[in-house]
Amino acid sequence: MIPFNKPVHLGTEIKAMAEAIERNGHVAGGGPFGKRSEGQLEKMLGQRTLLVTSATHALEMAALLLDLQPGDEFIVPSFTFVSTANAFCLRGAKPVFADVDAHGNLDVDDVARLLGPRTKAIVPVHYAGNSCDMQALQQVCGKVPVVEDAAQALGSTFDGRPLGTFGACGAFSFHETKNIGCGEGGALTLRDASLIDRAEYLRDKGTNRRKFQDGIVDKYTWVDVGSSYVLSDLNAAYLSTQLDEFTRIQARRKALYERYLAELSAPVERAGAYIIQGSARCVGNHHLFAIVFNVPEQRSRFIAHMREHKIVTPFHYIALHQSPMGKGFHDGRSLPHSERLTTNLVRFPLFFNMTDAECDTVIARTREFLDGI
Ligand SMILES: *Cc1c(COP(=O)(O)O)cnc(C)c1O
Repeated sequence: MIPFNKPVHLGTEIKAMAEAIERNGHVAGGGPFGKRSEGQLEKMLGQRTLLVTSATHALEMAALLLDLQPGDEFIVPSFTFVSTANAFCLRGAKPVFADVDAHGNLDVDDVARLLGPRTKAIVPVHYAGNSCDMQALQQVCGKVPVVEDAAQALGSTFDGRPLGTFGACGAFSFHETKNIGCGEGGALTLRDASLIDRAEYLRDKGTNRRKFQDGIVDKYTWVDVGSSYVLSDLNAAYLSTQLDEFTRIQARRKALYERYLAELSAPVERAGAYIIQGSARCVGNHHLFAIVFNVPEQRSRFIAHMREHKIVTPFHYIALHQSPMGKGFHDGRSLPHSERLTTNLVRFPLFFNMTDAECDTVIARTREFLDGI
Protein backbone atom coordinates (compact mmCIF):
# COMPACT_ATOMS: atom_id res chain seq x y z
CA MET A 1 0.00 0.00 0.00
CA ILE A 2 1.34 3.47 -0.88
CA PRO A 3 -0.50 5.95 1.34
CA PHE A 4 -1.19 9.53 0.37
CA ASN A 5 0.79 10.81 3.35
CA LYS A 6 2.93 9.69 6.24
CA PRO A 7 3.91 12.18 8.93
CA VAL A 8 7.59 13.16 8.67
CA HIS A 9 9.66 10.75 10.72
CA LEU A 10 13.26 11.70 11.41
CA GLY A 11 13.88 9.37 14.34
CA THR A 12 15.00 12.17 16.65
CA GLU A 13 11.52 13.25 17.76
CA ILE A 14 11.41 10.84 20.72
CA LYS A 15 14.77 12.02 21.99
CA ALA A 16 13.61 15.63 22.01
CA MET A 17 10.37 14.74 23.76
CA ALA A 18 12.28 12.72 26.36
CA GLU A 19 14.47 15.76 26.92
CA ALA A 20 11.37 17.88 27.59
CA ILE A 21 10.15 15.36 30.14
CA GLU A 22 13.33 14.20 31.81
CA ARG A 23 15.76 17.08 31.50
CA ASN A 24 13.62 20.21 31.29
CA GLY A 25 10.76 18.99 33.45
CA HIS A 26 8.58 21.40 31.49
CA VAL A 27 5.88 20.02 29.21
CA ALA A 28 3.23 22.76 29.29
CA GLY A 29 3.33 25.67 26.83
CA GLY A 30 5.91 28.44 26.85
CA GLY A 31 8.83 26.13 27.72
CA PRO A 32 12.36 25.90 26.29
CA PHE A 33 11.36 23.97 23.14
CA GLY A 34 8.48 26.36 22.45
CA LYS A 35 10.79 29.36 22.74
CA ARG A 36 13.38 27.68 20.55
CA SER A 37 10.84 26.77 17.86
CA GLU A 38 9.44 30.30 17.87
CA GLY A 39 12.96 31.62 17.45
CA GLN A 40 13.52 29.31 14.47
CA LEU A 41 10.27 30.43 12.85
CA GLU A 42 11.04 34.10 13.51
CA LYS A 43 14.39 33.69 11.80
CA MET A 44 12.69 32.19 8.74
CA LEU A 45 9.91 34.77 8.62
CA GLY A 46 11.62 37.87 9.96
CA GLN A 47 8.81 38.83 12.32
CA ARG A 48 7.19 37.95 15.66
CA THR A 49 5.63 34.50 15.52
CA LEU A 50 3.59 32.68 18.17
CA LEU A 51 3.42 28.92 18.39
CA VAL A 52 -0.19 27.80 18.78
CA THR A 53 -2.26 24.63 18.79
CA SER A 54 -3.30 24.68 15.10
CA ALA A 55 -3.67 26.87 12.03
CA THR A 56 -7.40 26.85 12.73
CA HIS A 57 -6.67 28.44 16.12
CA ALA A 58 -4.24 30.91 14.56
CA LEU A 59 -7.05 32.00 12.23
CA GLU A 60 -9.48 32.25 15.16
CA MET A 61 -6.98 34.48 16.93
CA ALA A 62 -6.70 36.62 13.78
CA ALA A 63 -10.48 37.06 13.72
CA LEU A 64 -10.39 38.16 17.38
CA LEU A 65 -7.42 40.49 16.79
CA LEU A 66 -9.17 42.20 13.89
CA ASP A 67 -12.31 42.42 16.02
CA LEU A 68 -14.71 40.88 13.51
CA GLN A 69 -18.33 41.29 14.57
CA PRO A 70 -21.72 39.91 13.56
CA GLY A 71 -22.75 41.63 10.34
CA ASP A 72 -19.17 42.10 9.13
CA GLU A 73 -18.10 40.40 5.92
CA PHE A 74 -14.84 38.74 4.97
CA ILE A 75 -13.72 37.57 1.54
CA VAL A 76 -12.43 34.04 1.28
CA PRO A 77 -11.80 31.67 -1.65
CA SER A 78 -14.48 29.02 -2.01
CA PHE A 79 -11.89 26.35 -2.83
CA THR A 80 -10.28 25.86 0.58
CA PHE A 81 -10.38 23.94 3.83
CA VAL A 82 -13.34 24.77 6.09
CA SER A 83 -11.22 26.42 8.80
CA THR A 84 -10.40 29.40 6.58
CA ALA A 85 -14.06 30.41 6.77
CA ASN A 86 -15.08 28.85 10.09
CA ALA A 87 -12.60 30.83 12.18
CA PHE A 88 -14.34 34.07 11.15
CA CYS A 89 -17.88 32.62 11.16
CA LEU A 90 -17.35 31.85 14.88
CA ARG A 91 -17.35 35.64 15.41
CA GLY A 92 -20.65 35.93 13.55
CA ALA A 93 -19.06 37.35 10.40
CA LYS A 94 -20.35 36.39 6.95
CA PRO A 95 -18.10 34.77 4.34
CA VAL A 96 -18.25 36.20 0.84
CA PHE A 97 -16.92 33.53 -1.49
CA ALA A 98 -14.48 34.51 -4.24
CA ASP A 99 -13.38 32.23 -7.03
CA VAL A 100 -9.85 30.93 -7.50
CA ASP A 101 -7.75 30.65 -10.65
CA ALA A 102 -7.13 27.38 -12.50
CA HIS A 103 -4.31 26.57 -10.06
CA GLY A 104 -6.37 27.04 -6.91
CA ASN A 105 -5.22 30.48 -5.77
CA LEU A 106 -7.41 33.49 -5.08
CA ASP A 107 -8.72 35.40 -8.13
CA VAL A 108 -7.73 38.99 -7.30
CA ASP A 109 -10.16 40.50 -9.86
CA ASP A 110 -12.99 38.68 -8.13
CA VAL A 111 -11.88 40.14 -4.78
CA ALA A 112 -12.04 43.63 -6.35
CA ARG A 113 -15.64 42.98 -7.44
CA LEU A 114 -16.72 41.66 -4.02
CA LEU A 115 -15.08 44.27 -1.81
CA GLY A 116 -17.69 46.43 -0.09
CA PRO A 117 -18.27 48.73 2.89
CA ARG A 118 -18.81 45.76 5.21
CA THR A 119 -15.63 43.90 4.22
CA LYS A 120 -13.47 43.68 7.35
CA ALA A 121 -10.89 41.12 6.24
CA ILE A 122 -9.57 39.37 3.16
CA VAL A 123 -8.26 35.86 3.64
CA PRO A 124 -6.16 34.52 0.76
CA VAL A 125 -5.20 30.84 0.95
CA HIS A 126 -1.77 29.88 -0.36
CA TYR A 127 -2.99 26.76 -2.05
CA ALA A 128 -0.35 24.07 -2.59
CA GLY A 129 2.21 26.46 -1.08
CA ASN A 130 1.80 28.88 -4.02
CA SER A 131 0.07 32.24 -3.96
CA CYS A 132 -1.90 34.76 -5.97
CA ASP A 133 -0.20 38.02 -7.00
CA MET A 134 0.23 39.38 -3.45
CA GLN A 135 1.22 42.83 -4.68
CA ALA A 136 -1.94 43.14 -6.77
CA LEU A 137 -4.00 41.81 -3.86
CA GLN A 138 -2.58 44.41 -1.48
CA GLN A 139 -3.40 47.15 -3.97
CA VAL A 140 -6.99 45.95 -4.31
CA CYS A 141 -7.43 45.59 -0.53
CA GLY A 142 -6.27 49.10 0.33
CA LYS A 143 -6.80 49.52 4.06
CA VAL A 144 -8.81 46.32 4.57
CA PRO A 145 -6.56 43.93 6.51
CA VAL A 146 -5.28 40.75 4.90
CA VAL A 147 -5.04 37.52 6.90
CA GLU A 148 -3.01 34.88 5.08
CA ASP A 149 -4.04 31.27 5.42
CA ALA A 150 -0.48 30.04 4.95
CA ALA A 151 -1.25 26.64 6.50
CA GLN A 152 0.38 24.90 3.51
CA ALA A 153 3.02 27.51 2.74
CA LEU A 154 5.92 27.38 5.22
CA GLY A 155 9.08 27.96 3.20
CA SER A 156 7.38 29.51 0.16
CA THR A 157 8.05 33.02 -1.15
CA PHE A 158 6.41 35.52 -3.48
CA ASP A 159 8.79 38.06 -5.08
CA GLY A 160 11.40 36.70 -2.66
CA ARG A 161 9.37 37.48 0.47
CA PRO A 162 8.06 34.67 2.72
CA LEU A 163 4.38 33.89 2.35
CA GLY A 164 2.60 34.61 5.61
CA THR A 165 4.42 37.95 6.04
CA PHE A 166 2.41 40.09 3.59
CA GLY A 167 -0.78 40.47 5.62
CA ALA A 168 -1.45 41.85 9.09
CA CYS A 169 -1.16 38.22 10.22
CA GLY A 170 -0.50 34.80 8.76
CA ALA A 171 -1.47 31.30 9.93
CA PHE A 172 0.73 28.21 9.53
CA SER A 173 -0.14 24.59 10.27
CA PHE A 174 1.93 21.77 11.76
CA HIS A 175 -0.75 19.16 11.25
CA GLU A 176 0.74 15.81 10.28
CA THR A 177 -0.26 16.29 6.64
CA LYS A 178 1.87 19.43 6.22
CA ASN A 179 5.54 19.60 5.14
CA ILE A 180 6.62 19.53 8.79
CA GLY A 181 4.48 18.89 11.83
CA CYS A 182 4.00 17.77 15.39
CA GLY A 183 0.70 15.90 15.18
CA GLU A 184 -1.39 19.01 15.67
CA GLY A 185 0.11 22.47 15.89
CA GLY A 186 0.34 25.85 14.23
CA ALA A 187 1.78 29.34 14.29
CA LEU A 188 0.48 32.86 14.03
CA THR A 189 2.90 35.37 12.55
CA LEU A 190 2.28 39.09 13.06
CA ARG A 191 3.54 41.82 10.77
CA ASP A 192 1.41 44.40 12.53
CA ALA A 193 3.41 44.96 15.73
CA SER A 194 0.47 46.65 17.44
CA LEU A 195 -1.27 43.25 17.56
CA ILE A 196 1.51 41.37 19.37
CA ASP A 197 0.64 42.07 23.03
CA ARG A 198 -3.01 41.29 22.48
CA ALA A 199 -2.18 38.10 20.54
CA GLU A 200 -0.22 36.89 23.58
CA TYR A 201 -3.15 37.62 25.91
CA LEU A 202 -5.59 35.79 23.61
CA ARG A 203 -3.31 32.80 23.42
CA ASP A 204 -2.93 32.51 27.18
CA LYS A 205 -6.51 32.63 28.52
CA GLY A 206 -6.73 36.41 28.43
CA THR A 207 -3.82 36.83 30.84
CA ASN A 208 -0.51 38.67 30.68
CA ARG A 209 1.38 35.57 31.79
CA ARG A 210 3.98 36.02 29.05
CA LYS A 211 4.96 39.39 30.52
CA PHE A 212 5.24 37.68 33.91
CA GLN A 213 7.42 34.89 32.48
CA ASP A 214 9.61 37.49 30.80
CA GLY A 215 9.97 39.40 34.10
CA ILE A 216 8.17 42.51 32.83
CA VAL A 217 5.41 42.36 35.45
CA ASP A 218 5.65 40.82 38.95
CA LYS A 219 2.31 38.97 38.82
CA TYR A 220 -0.02 38.00 36.05
CA THR A 221 -3.73 38.59 35.84
CA TRP A 222 -6.82 38.70 33.62
CA VAL A 223 -6.41 41.52 31.09
CA ASP A 224 -8.50 40.58 28.03
CA VAL A 225 -10.71 37.88 26.54
CA GLY A 226 -8.83 34.79 25.46
CA SER A 227 -8.66 31.06 25.23
CA SER A 228 -6.08 28.29 25.48
CA TYR A 229 -4.08 28.35 22.25
CA VAL A 230 -0.59 27.60 23.61
CA LEU A 231 1.26 24.63 22.14
CA SER A 232 2.53 22.18 24.77
CA ASP A 233 6.29 21.81 25.01
CA LEU A 234 5.97 18.10 24.19
CA ASN A 235 4.62 19.03 20.77
CA ALA A 236 7.13 21.86 20.46
CA ALA A 237 9.97 19.39 21.17
CA TYR A 238 8.74 17.14 18.36
CA LEU A 239 8.38 20.14 16.06
CA SER A 240 11.81 21.58 16.87
CA THR A 241 13.58 18.51 15.47
CA GLN A 242 11.75 19.00 12.18
CA LEU A 243 12.47 22.72 12.13
CA ASP A 244 16.17 21.86 12.60
CA GLU A 245 15.98 19.60 9.54
CA PHE A 246 13.67 21.78 7.47
CA THR A 247 16.18 22.24 4.64
CA ARG A 248 16.72 18.49 4.29
CA ILE A 249 12.99 17.76 4.45
CA GLN A 250 12.28 20.36 1.79
CA ALA A 251 15.04 19.02 -0.46
CA ARG A 252 13.52 15.53 -0.37
CA ARG A 253 10.04 16.85 -1.19
CA LYS A 254 11.51 18.87 -4.05
CA ALA A 255 13.28 15.81 -5.46
CA LEU A 256 10.08 13.74 -5.38
CA TYR A 257 8.04 16.59 -6.85
CA GLU A 258 10.51 17.09 -9.67
CA ARG A 259 10.57 13.41 -10.43
CA TYR A 260 6.78 13.50 -10.84
CA LEU A 261 7.01 16.65 -12.93
CA ALA A 262 9.67 15.29 -15.27
CA GLU A 263 7.96 11.93 -15.80
CA LEU A 264 4.34 13.06 -15.93
CA SER A 265 4.27 16.46 -17.67
CA ALA A 266 4.06 15.04 -21.20
CA PRO A 267 1.50 12.26 -20.55
CA VAL A 268 -0.65 14.64 -18.47
CA GLU A 269 -0.70 17.14 -21.31
CA ARG A 270 -1.49 14.48 -23.92
CA ALA A 271 -4.45 13.40 -21.76
CA GLY A 272 -5.84 16.96 -21.80
CA ALA A 273 -5.14 17.43 -18.08
CA TYR A 274 -2.77 19.83 -16.31
CA ILE A 275 -0.52 19.95 -13.23
CA ILE A 276 -1.17 22.45 -10.41
CA GLN A 277 1.68 24.96 -10.44
CA GLY A 278 2.60 28.38 -9.04
CA SER A 279 3.39 31.54 -10.97
CA ALA A 280 6.94 32.49 -11.95
CA ARG A 281 7.10 35.05 -9.11
CA CYS A 282 6.37 32.38 -6.54
CA VAL A 283 8.92 29.89 -5.22
CA GLY A 284 6.77 27.11 -3.80
CA ASN A 285 7.54 24.61 -1.04
CA HIS A 286 6.39 21.50 -2.95
CA HIS A 287 3.56 20.96 -0.54
CA LEU A 288 1.45 19.13 -3.04
CA PHE A 289 1.53 17.42 -6.43
CA ALA A 290 -1.91 17.48 -7.99
CA ILE A 291 -3.36 17.16 -11.46
CA VAL A 292 -6.65 18.42 -12.86
CA PHE A 293 -8.47 16.16 -15.30
CA ASN A 294 -10.47 17.40 -18.25
CA VAL A 295 -13.69 15.74 -17.05
CA PRO A 296 -14.80 14.41 -13.62
CA GLU A 297 -15.38 10.89 -14.90
CA GLN A 298 -11.65 10.57 -15.71
CA ARG A 299 -10.80 11.45 -12.14
CA SER A 300 -13.13 8.80 -10.72
CA ARG A 301 -11.65 6.17 -13.03
CA PHE A 302 -8.12 7.29 -12.15
CA ILE A 303 -8.72 7.02 -8.39
CA ALA A 304 -10.23 3.55 -8.86
CA HIS A 305 -7.30 2.47 -11.08
CA MET A 306 -4.76 3.62 -8.50
CA ARG A 307 -6.71 2.00 -5.65
CA GLU A 308 -6.63 -1.30 -7.55
CA HIS A 309 -2.85 -0.99 -7.47
CA LYS A 310 -2.89 -0.08 -3.76
CA ILE A 311 -2.06 3.60 -4.23
CA VAL A 312 -4.09 6.24 -2.41
CA THR A 313 -4.83 9.37 -4.46
CA PRO A 314 -7.46 11.50 -2.71
CA PHE A 315 -9.21 14.64 -3.89
CA HIS A 316 -10.26 17.79 -2.02
CA TYR A 317 -12.07 20.25 -1.39
CA ILE A 318 -15.81 20.46 -1.76
CA ALA A 319 -16.13 24.14 -2.78
CA LEU A 320 -17.43 25.91 0.33
CA HIS A 321 -20.18 27.78 -1.53
CA GLN A 322 -21.63 24.36 -2.47
CA SER A 323 -21.31 22.84 1.01
CA PRO A 324 -24.35 22.48 3.30
CA MET A 325 -23.04 25.25 5.60
CA GLY A 326 -21.64 27.51 2.88
CA LYS A 327 -24.79 27.50 0.75
CA GLY A 328 -26.59 29.43 3.48
CA PHE A 329 -24.17 32.36 3.02
CA HIS A 330 -23.90 32.32 -0.77
CA ASP A 331 -25.90 34.32 -3.29
CA GLY A 332 -26.03 31.49 -5.83
CA ARG A 333 -23.40 32.94 -8.18
CA SER A 334 -21.39 30.30 -10.01
CA LEU A 335 -17.66 30.07 -9.19
CA PRO A 336 -16.45 28.05 -12.16
CA HIS A 337 -12.84 27.35 -11.17
CA SER A 338 -13.73 26.32 -7.61
CA GLU A 339 -16.44 24.03 -8.96
CA ARG A 340 -14.14 22.51 -11.55
CA LEU A 341 -11.34 21.80 -9.05
CA THR A 342 -13.90 20.22 -6.71
CA THR A 343 -14.75 17.59 -9.31
CA ASN A 344 -11.57 17.26 -11.41
CA LEU A 345 -8.53 17.57 -9.11
CA VAL A 346 -6.60 14.66 -7.62
CA ARG A 347 -3.58 14.62 -5.28
CA PHE A 348 -0.57 12.33 -5.43
CA PRO A 349 1.36 10.66 -2.59
CA LEU A 350 4.19 13.01 -1.59
CA PHE A 351 5.92 12.77 1.78
CA PHE A 352 9.43 13.03 3.21
CA ASN A 353 9.85 9.31 3.94
CA MET A 354 8.56 8.20 0.52
CA THR A 355 11.06 5.98 -1.28
CA ASP A 356 12.24 6.37 -4.88
CA ALA A 357 10.70 2.95 -5.62
CA GLU A 358 7.31 4.11 -4.32
CA CYS A 359 7.55 7.25 -6.43
CA ASP A 360 8.40 5.17 -9.51
CA THR A 361 5.43 2.86 -8.90
CA VAL A 362 3.07 5.83 -8.71
CA ILE A 363 4.54 7.24 -11.92
CA ALA A 364 4.28 3.93 -13.79
CA ARG A 365 0.64 3.34 -12.76
CA THR A 366 -0.27 6.93 -13.61
CA ARG A 367 1.32 6.73 -17.06
CA GLU A 368 -0.49 3.48 -17.69
CA PHE A 369 -3.79 5.23 -16.97
CA LEU A 370 -3.05 8.46 -18.84
CA ASP A 371 -1.90 6.64 -21.97
CA GLY A 372 -5.29 4.92 -22.08
CA ILE A 373 -7.25 8.21 -22.17
C1 LIG B 1 -4.34 22.23 6.97
C2 LIG B 1 -5.05 23.48 6.66
C3 LIG B 1 -5.75 24.21 7.64
C4 LIG B 1 -5.94 23.71 9.03
O1 LIG B 1 -4.78 23.51 9.73
P1 LIG B 1 -4.85 22.89 11.21
O2 LIG B 1 -3.48 23.11 11.75
O3 LIG B 1 -5.19 21.44 11.05
O4 LIG B 1 -5.90 23.64 11.96
C5 LIG B 1 -6.32 25.41 7.29
N1 LIG B 1 -6.26 25.87 6.04
C6 LIG B 1 -5.62 25.20 5.06
C7 LIG B 1 -5.57 25.79 3.69
C8 LIG B 1 -5.03 23.97 5.34
O5 LIG B 1 -4.41 23.30 4.34
